[in-house]
Amino acid sequence: MKKEFVVIGLGRFGASVCKELHRLGHQVLAIDIKEEKVNAVLDYSEKAVIADASREEVLKSLGVGNFDYAVVAIGDNMQANIMCTLLLKELGMENVWVKAQDANHKKVLAKIGADRVIQPEYDMGIRAANQMQSGKLQEYIELSEEYSISELDISKRLANKALNDLDIRAKYGCTILAIKNGEKVNISPSAEDKLYEGDMIVVMGKNDDIKRFEEKGL
Ligand code: ATP
Ligand code: ATP
Ligand code: CA
Repeated sequence: MKKEFVVIGLGRFGASVCKELHRLGHQVLAIDIKEEKVNAVLDYSEKAVIADASREEVLKSLGVGNFDYAVVAIGDNMQANIMCTLLLKELGMENVWVKAQDANHKKVLAKIGADRVIQPEYDMGIRAANQMQSGKLQEYIELSEEYSISELDISKRLANKALNDLDIRAKYGCTILAIKNGEKVNISPSAEDKLYEGDMIVVMGKNDDIKRFEEKGL
């Protein structure tokens, strides 16, 4: 089933979300208070509207409450960002993703019911640092402060060995969720499954354990 998205605030972040959703084939309602921002996404949205999204009557008249997902990407105007988020939750929206300026803003958003809070520069900084410090790291998802999922290149040393032999869970406390090779993905691999040169593994565990595995086990 196709989902409907509303993207509010079309700065660099919001416009990028809007364009990518459009590229993925979704219908997007785009809203910004500034005409030129709205004009810039006309080709990438089902409908693009110049409006103040911190006003209840605006959101109601656009029927925003019926959308599946909302992205609030209003930046500097924190008051409008918070007001808009609050209104979307009051309208009963179940998936409201909001861009936050800083840690305090993030706290407020969580309190008023934002379903997901994003700090693009901060989040991307953590990702970039992790990818740089490990030449092997391809992707990285933070599950909590303590746990994450990492996608790692395997070394030649591990090639042609079965998961059984490597004993990664016992030695490093990490779980291999999947083995990838190009487009081929083996989800929930069994102990007998082997790794081959060029494989990537998706590993879940405590941050320290994954780091230890990357340094000593790969
Ligand atoms: P980015 O880093 O994503 O470029 P930013 O963090 O610098 O953005 P702003 O440029 O302040 O954030 O805000 C993003 C967009 O939100 C702007 O295009 C702005 O016009 C729009 N915006 C601000 N207030 C409102 C509002 N009340 N309703 C709708 N859009 C708004
Ligand atoms: P972010 O979005 O990551 O918060 P930004 O894109 O708004 O940052 P700035 O705040 O303009 O970018 O710049 C980032 C940092 O780079 C600032 O701390 C600034 O002092 C520093 N900076 C700017 N110019 C130079 C320079 N020529 N040499 C060293 N540092 C610089
Ligand atoms: Ca900015």
